[in-house]
Amino acid sequence: HAPAAAQPPTTPNDHELPPATMPGDRMNATFVTLARNQDIWEIAKSIRHVEDRFNRKFNYDWVFLNDDDFNDEFKKVTTALVSGKTKYGKIPKEHWSFPDFIDQDKAARVREEMKEKKIIYGDSISYRHMCRYESGFFFRHPLMLDYEWYWRVEPSIEMHCDINYDTFKFMADNKKKYSFTLSLYEYVETIPTLWQATKNFTKTFPEHIAKDNSLKFISDDNGETYNHCHFWSNFEIGNLNWLRSKAYIDYFESLDHAGGFFYERWGDAPVHSLAAALMLNKDEIHFFNDIAYYHVPFTHCPTGEQYRLDHKCHCNPKDNFDWNGYSCTARFYEINNMKKPEGYEKEQ
Ligand code: GDP
Ligand code: MN
Repeated sequence: HAPAAAQPPTTPNDHELPPATMPGDRMNATFVTLARNQDIWEIAKSIRHVEDRFNRKFNYDWVFLNDDDFNDEFKKVTTALVSGKTKYGKIPKEHWSFPDFIDQDKAARVREEMKEKKIIYGDSISYRHMCRYESGFFFRHPLMLDYEWYWRVEPSIEMHCDINYDTFKFMADNKKKYSFTLSLYEYVETIPTLWQATKNFTKTFPEHIAKDNSLKFISDDNGETYNHCHFWSNFEIGNLNWLRSKAYIDYFESLDHAGGFFYERWGDAPVHSLAAALMLNKDEIHFFNDIAYYHVPFTHCPTGEQYRLDHKCHCNPKDNFDWNGYSCTARFYEINNMKKPEGYEKEQ
């Protein structure tokens, strides 16, 4: 008679998540990602990086937002990858459309001009809705109202070092409201009148300007002109209550009415940055040298060899953008009287 079919060896029951290894309380915090269904595999990579380097030890939640409905595949794959709870929200139409005070013909003419000048995303309507949404609305989405802290993650990002402490708790314990890993100069063509609109706002609402602000980070002539320095907002860890404050909302509304999200192509990065620089005290903004991060085309690889070895970093220190002439991070150190990290000269 035929021999019995060989049985495959039994494998351990490995589909169950290992428990979060970091003891202690969790903060009221979530990751947040704006994405389309088609971004599924690029956001999957990002999640994998964030989970491996940080979140598998903490199991924080993850909120996904979209102007359309997420499909089942997107939800299935992302839920499988995230160690915390996942939540999926649809953006209400009012937050992703032209406000009635915008002249749509004028906006269309601008897109044509920007297309001819080959300005990046200059001809895109959806990119403008995205920038306006990230500037003024994501923190007010009903799913976000449950949280006090957020960490923004975009598709196709990478993280290169272990983060072994709770970055949200760090923010709270040190009274930080906003943070960054990369800073640079914005394309002038996308924001020609953003500074004038910001000056109009500060004139109308002088009470919203922080005493010990970072004006020197964003202006070389005491506020006359904007030097275009901004924090790169595709990475952010920040305080949602600050974004929901009257000061920030007044700023967003005055910019929105100025029209530059549609008549120019204002990005959420300069908007968040100008708000943080003017309405927060200096010591409320944090530079995370220890979070190694990549979003095309820039890398923040932590300065300091011992740190990189101790945290199993896999970025090439030669790729670090911080001490490059196009980065504003040296300026951040200087205006805050911070000592630059050991070894930075070698990376210039
Ligand atoms: P870039 O980093 O400035 O080149 O812009 P991205 O293409 O990465 O877009 C920024 C963020 O907004 C990413 O998280 C995208 O997934 C998201 N995003 C961009 N456009 C749209 C859109 O039309 N709909 C949705 N739901 N998300 C978008
Ligand atoms: Mn991106």
